[in-house]
Amino acid sequence: MSEVMVRQVPFFNYKIFNDRYSNIILEETRRVIQEGAFIMQKDMLLFEQRIAQYLNVKHALSVANCTDGLIIALQACGIQPGDEVILPSHTFIATAASVQMTGGVPVPIECGADHMIDVTKIEASITDKTRFIMPVQLNGRTCNMDAIQAIAEKHQLTIVEDAAQALGSEFNGKKAGTFGSAAAFSFYPAKILGCLGDGGIVVTNDDAIADKVYELRDHGRNRSGEVVSWGGNSRLDNLQAAILGRIFVEDYENIVRRRREIASLYQSHLGDLSQLVLPPAPGSEPDHFDVFQNYEIEADNRDALAAFLKKNSVGTLIQWGGQAVHQHKSLGFDNVNLPFTDHMTTRYVMLPMNMSIIDDEVEHVSDMIKQFYQG
Ligand SMILES: *Cc1c(COP(=O)(O)O)cnc(C)c1O
Repeated sequence: MSEVMVRQVPFFNYKIFNDRYSNIILEETRRVIQEGAFIMQKDMLLFEQRIAQYLNVKHALSVANCTDGLIIALQACGIQPGDEVILPSHTFIATAASVQMTGGVPVPIECGADHMIDVTKIEASITDKTRFIMPVQLNGRTCNMDAIQAIAEKHQLTIVEDAAQALGSEFNGKKAGTFGSAAAFSFYPAKILGCLGDGGIVVTNDDAIADKVYELRDHGRNRSGEVVSWGGNSRLDNLQAAILGRIFVEDYENIVRRRREIASLYQSHLGDLSQLVLPPAPGSEPDHFDVFQNYEIEADNRDALAAFLKKNSVGTLIQWGGQAVHQHKSLGFDNVNLPFTDHMTTRYVMLPMNMSIIDDEVEHVSDMIKQFYQG
């Protein structure tokens, strides 16, 4: 028997920034250094304009990362100590932490079969202290925002979207991040639009909220540079904005198209396996346009599948290390009981979904999964 090279398909390849974007990065770095333009300069402003235009939203204000963005968005929307914020437990700890850091109280609730916040469970979680709903536009998908907006209106709650994973995702033709009073996106390297470190942006249609975000991210200074309130420092580097701007303009359409193509490929290879539940295929639902930040599936015998794939050099990732917000022992959610989310944390896993993976590799990953279940 001849020796075959073991095919490796990593979950994510950070060398993408070199392989795909080295020209952009080198050109922009050289230019920005030559100009000596590092903090709140024209590349940052231009990038903000581009994102605002893309989302069809009035204001986009860049920040140092999405977690800061969520904190600042909540503060700009007037969160007060003790205010309860309803959010899904199946999310990154940062969603809940952003609430906690403002003095608010995160109230994690169940996710539904589509992995998004279970809109049928929101109303039962509302108390006289509830002020906000924080839907998470998870995996590049947008929640059923009609239902969430109706509940928010009925109970006079403010919506702040965690859109960290959802740039370009739509519900009923409207983009994630534009449904609530404010939203934040992330440009963490592995996010669908990634930079070379940390980055984020807050968007809003409200002028007063935008002013407040502007101040909170830059030492309480307004657009004239005058200190008008307390603020911190959470600015996006002009250099990162310059690089992000080029990647966004030159490649974002391709990124979204390719991710949807990969999702369709997984669907065609794995759609018949009864042991898996796949996310809805692109184009299969009229209300949703998903951008597939992640390809998160449910799998029978998940841990054994992940171990088998790992042994065969195929990378997978279990989101949040398999721990929903309420499951973190040290965070005081002992009385929170979310059986469906608990069940889901034993079943979900993400398959490779990135701009490095080629069609053959998607097929290979799929073949290995079939081999695991069918021998
Ligand atoms: C990545 C992520 C965040 C945090 O974004 P950072 O830019 O890393 O601070 C928040 N919420 C969700 C759902 C995320 O995926």
